[in-house]
Amino acid sequence: MIPPLDRPLRVLFLSTSVGALGSGLGGGVELTLHNMAQALSERQHTIVIVAPTGSVCAPFSVVGIAGALQTTAQSEGRDAAIIMPANAVLARMWDYARQVQDQYDLVVNFAYDWLPFYLTPFFDCPIAHLVSMGSLTDAMDGIIEQTIVQFPGSIGVHSRAQADTFSFGDRCHVLGNGFDLSLYEFCSAPEQSLAWVGRLAPEKGLEDAVAAAQVTQTPLRIWGAMQDPTYWQQIQQQYPTAPITYEGFLPTAALQKALGKCRALIMTPRWVEAFGNVAIEALACGVPVIAYRRGGPTEIVQDGKTGWLVEPDSVAGLVEAIAQIDLIDRRLCRQQAEAEYSLTAMGDRLEQWFAALLTQART
Ligand code: UDP
Repeated sequence: MIPPLDRPLRVLFLSTSVGALGSGLGGGVELTLHNMAQALSERQHTIVIVAPTGSVCAPFSVVGIAGALQTTAQSEGRDAAIIMPANAVLARMWDYARQVQDQYDLVVNFAYDWLPFYLTPFFDCPIAHLVSMGSLTDAMDGIIEQTIVQFPGSIGVHSRAQADTFSFGDRCHVLGNGFDLSLYEFCSAPEQSLAWVGRLAPEKGLEDAVAAAQVTQTPLRIWGAMQDPTYWQQIQQQYPTAPITYEGFLPTAALQKALGKCRALIMTPRWVEAFGNVAIEALACGVPVIAYRRGGPTEIVQDGKTGWLVEPDSVAGLVEAIAQIDLIDRRLCRQQAEAEYSLTAMGDRLEQWFAALLTQART
């Protein structure tokens, strides 16, 4: 039995180094970091955030660090090498952390990058690593495993499906995620449109949602950071008669307002989605989720109750599920978000993780 935390902690958050907070380039990590800061602050813990310059994470202040951004890891092959650009912001952020570490009880790493794992034994302050994606490269698997061997309990993930992509998945701490549900309005009477929300990048499989929109001639509204413009152009050329609109990357308040009015959220990941923040954001507005039975959404969507799980990569399956959206009671969607994904639920899980990690570090 792990004793609970006996006092508020001073915690240093090290953000992702692929983009400034607020840019959308960091994907779900951006909102996750914000929500975790909120959940912990509400419990009197002190949070300081270190992130690339230009980052915005209101109401929290951010220590901005200048430097070259890392490239995203999603599109590389298994044998991809570790790359550090000149003047890497990643290295500078961790240099900053090294200098101020004695002011903190814990450092939390949000970057899916080799360096923070490698540096862990060289720090005096314990480091918790929140791994935001599944297994992608051998080099990353190797360094994460080395870290979990030396520092048991230091690796957190979002879902069991994500953990299972790693050979050491059974030793990862599964945290789910948490959201400030007061920001998401329940909408009982939707319009006709479907929604698709995510970075526009190949691993997100947008083309399948567009194909289903074309077959059913149901309007599909698309929101997200434009990570790969060529990919988006190809989709438009491939499905010229699909009733789709790209409506840009919106801040949470505006996104939830628009998303809430949609009949369902379509999630079509090609990769093992570590979690899928957008699934919870939809449920919180009362929007059912139609998702491929792959990765995090499998653990979120209650098939036939809060959405439909569809055979992966099957457009026909999506079309069938779209025809059955009205069988889902939107109130149950909101209820699921409240029961499992509130900030309180997340705060409890985070505190348990930190308590276990700090107990381990002391021994
Ligand atoms: N998002 C946003 N505005 C948009 C579209 C998306 O803020 O217009 C955010 C959304 O709230 C979510 C993130 O982008 O937190 C996408 O995260 P998800 O976990 O679904 O996927 P990832 O990008 O991490 O693979």
